[in-house]
Amino acid sequence: AHLARIEAVDEKVHAFLYVDREGALAQARAVDEKRARGEKLGPLAGVPLALKDIFTTEGVPTTVGSKILEGWIPPYDATLTKKLKAADVVILGKTNMDEFAMGSSTENSAYGPTGNPWDLTKIPGGSGGGSSAALASFEAPLAIGTDTGGSIRQPAAVTGTVGVKPTYGAVSRFGMVAFSSSLDQGGPCARTVLDAALLHEVIAGHDPLDSTSVDAPVPPVVEAARNGSVAGMRVGVVKQFRGEGYQAGVIQRFDESVALLKELGAEIVELDCPSFDLGLSAYYLIAPSECSSNLARFDGLRYGLRTGDDGGHSAEEVTSLTREAGFGPEVKRRIMLGTYALSSGYYDAYYGSAQKVRTLITRDFEKAFEQVDVIVSPTTPTTAFPIGERADDPMAMYLADLCTIPTNLAGNAAMSLPCGLAPEDNLPVGLQIIAPAMQDDRLYKVGAAVE
Ligand code: GLN
Repeated sequence: AHLARIEAVDEKVHAFLYVDREGALAQARAVDEKRARGEKLGPLAGVPLALKDIFTTEGVPTTVGSKILEGWIPPYDATLTKKLKAADVVILGKTNMDEFAMGSSTENSAYGPTGNPWDLTKIPGGSGGGSSAALASFEAPLAIGTDTGGSIRQPAAVTGTVGVKPTYGAVSRFGMVAFSSSLDQGGPCARTVLDAALLHEVIAGHDPLDSTSVDAPVPPVVEAARNGSVAGMRVGVVKQFRGEGYQAGVIQRFDESVALLKELGAEIVELDCPSFDLGLSAYYLIAPSECSSNLARFDGLRYGLRTGDDGGHSAEEVTSLTREAGFGPEVKRRIMLGTYALSSGYYDAYYGSAQKVRTLITRDFEKAFEQVDVIVSPTTPTTAFPIGERADDPMAMYLADLCTIPTNLAGNAAMSLPCGLAPEDNLPVGLQIIAPAMQDDRLYKVGAAVE
């Protein structure tokens, strides 16, 4: 049914870069056979899923939305892919994304944009716009995203779906193409809080193949999602997450959510987190710095595209020509920003300062979580904007992640879930819930209560 739905609508939505029809049917058949033999089935047996094209899949193309990996077929599965298969999930295919997960609209994909199923002329968010659009268009009931600065939560917000960025280190990064290693985090996307929890439990857990993987039990997220409640909880509202640049309808729906939380028995606490205002600036030094190092591996010699290998060019020239042809403008901009910020003489002024700001933001969270159990905010300042509107204005694009970035810098957990439509454009608004590190279950407890 989901393959038929993809066939019917994906020409317009363009959520998928690759539909693995044969692979999906084979996985589904294998589940049927297991069931017929009376074997024990995985926890999500037979449930179809759309996988962001940033995770390696053995024998199935993985492009990261970039020309530089066009035609590359990974020889191995990411840990996350392995876990999905072990849970008997049926992987429908690979979803569209901003190139190397750099963007907030999926317009930076080298393979063309994805439409927002609520209005195909609007962006579905980014970088994981393909995954969120697949959910909103009912092409898949579950999806996987990655969130470096908001790429799970912002797409969830603008498509009226649920997305969770687990605590940093909760889901293995092995086989997940690196953008900014100290920020990158894979996580679940779904249409309900409980569905997200069921997927969270399958993909999380310690992995010795990832040096920053957290070696601790997965928080009881499913139990929390089944027992939604905010009675007696202290919920923080951060002063810095409103004001200029926020759409009136977004603030209206957010204020209604806060009123609902109060009605359900939560105590609302106003919080001041002054360093959150510096989050965006710190992020746009740290993320490009780390990406300039991570993307050095795309040299035209190891994987994917190779340009100029005609006998007339040196190895260095082949690398240069390949990168010129294979990387899009946003990726080049970030590599240049990053190499500049890391260069000797500038390192302390830029990268060093950004790391200090990161510490200040972490401390603001620590202080906040002495007073409250969770923090709530709008996920993103506006609803989905028109495709093309911010394409030539990186600063305007970067503002989409104003409320999501502090969490990545501090490494704690956050969820976005729908909280109604903005009255001025009838487009979905996202409510963000933030919890301390390793307390991911709180997101689900609160999310299930207000869903
Ligand atoms: N939009 C942000 C960026 O462009 C975040 C992307 C992400 O979370 N992968 O870097």
